[in-house]
Amino acid sequence: MQINECFLKLSSNYLFADIAKRVKAFKAEHPEADVISLGIGDVTQPLAPAVVEALHKAADEMASCATFRGYGPEQGYDFLRNAIVEHDFRARGINVAADEIFVSDGAKSDTGNFQELLSSDCVVAVTDPVYPVYVDSNVMTARCIVTLPCTAENGFVPAFPQEHVDVIYLCYPNNPTGTTLTKEQLKAWVDYALATDALIFYDAAYEAFIRHDDIPHSIYEIPGAKQCAVEFHSYSKTAGFTGVRCGYTVVPKEVKSERMKSEVFNETQYSLNQLWNRRQCTKFNGTSYLSQRAAEAIYAPEGKQQIQKTINYYMQNATLMRKALTDMGFTVYGGTDAPYIWVKTPKCMSSWEFFDWMLYSAHVVCTPGAGFGSSGEGYVRLTAFGTHENTEKALRRIDSKL
Ligand code: PLP
Repeated sequence: MQINECFLKLSSNYLFADIAKRVKAFKAEHPEADVISLGIGDVTQPLAPAVVEALHKAADEMASCATFRGYGPEQGYDFLRNAIVEHDFRARGINVAADEIFVSDGAKSDTGNFQELLSSDCVVAVTDPVYPVYVDSNVMTARCIVTLPCTAENGFVPAFPQEHVDVIYLCYPNNPTGTTLTKEQLKAWVDYALATDALIFYDAAYEAFIRHDDIPHSIYEIPGAKQCAVEFHSYSKTAGFTGVRCGYTVVPKEVKSERMKSEVFNETQYSLNQLWNRRQCTKFNGTSYLSQRAAEAIYAPEGKQQIQKTINYYMQNATLMRKALTDMGFTVYGGTDAPYIWVKTPKCMSSWEFFDWMLYSAHVVCTPGAGFGSSGEGYVRLTAFGTHENTEKALRRIDSKL
């Protein structure tokens, strides 16, 4: 038996496992320390009452023969696909059809799996720093990966690749930098993709945190994007579904690549919408009925209002963190339209040096920027997903230790 040796090329440890190991060692040495995590991007606030009610109702339906649900459609139930079309797209003047929506168990699986539709000799471009899933899933398939540095010098807006690439992963609002692209900047990428026959895999997991009108919530706000972009959404941060699990992917019927055409395949066969449908029907048995009913509840008026309240709660943390850290003399980015703050390390410290300083001096856990790619060196990521109390306490401690 021979294993897929590409797995050996993955960086040895998953970033968050590395962090957990260091935190565990610190806690073993200092059992009395009250460690606050502003590191991993998990949420802390409970589900919206409307979501909990929908979950209860769906669970009750499972208790009776007449309303029990077994396997559902692999693509998702119509009630959710239609709600997505209506509220996430039509309300913004975007025309997406229900059969272009594929409900999933979250954006991690889909952003990791979508590359399966591409030939192994496709060249992919990722920003640096980057959400590691895009890189690792392509390393597993031995694809050539081009990196596009996002630095303070270029305002965290990647330059176009120097060579031809087949796919570009873009994530805005960005994890980890918390920065965004304006409509004009995103339009330049759509025009570039159309001109060079590239696909854009657009991760919109954090669109609900956008505050400014000139920042697009969906790539389909840009003319031409339906010909060149697939878009990933997640309810994890939008509605606290990190444990419930639900998201969706938009695969427009128009999106196709000239390069994917071949003499043996016809128009329908190289449609990404059809290929993704085929892939999902083979490997995915649908998102749980309970999760989908829970997701549907966030589109009803009270659900919408409740999740917005929680999003505002996190964004208050972000505002507070930006202000307090700036007042302390740190250079910070992000946090205005995203729940992440990208902090320049002081005194030329490396990301991991500053991580250790934060842990050992302030008992605060952050995420070393270097774990997201070489351009993340010299930065750490803080998240706004803590409680107000912990966020304030962490900031006071950092201030007192400087
Ligand atoms: N995409 C980005 C950029 C993320 O940061 C995350 C989660 O941290 C995900 C996708 C995964 O989301 P989900 O919980 O829906 O799998």
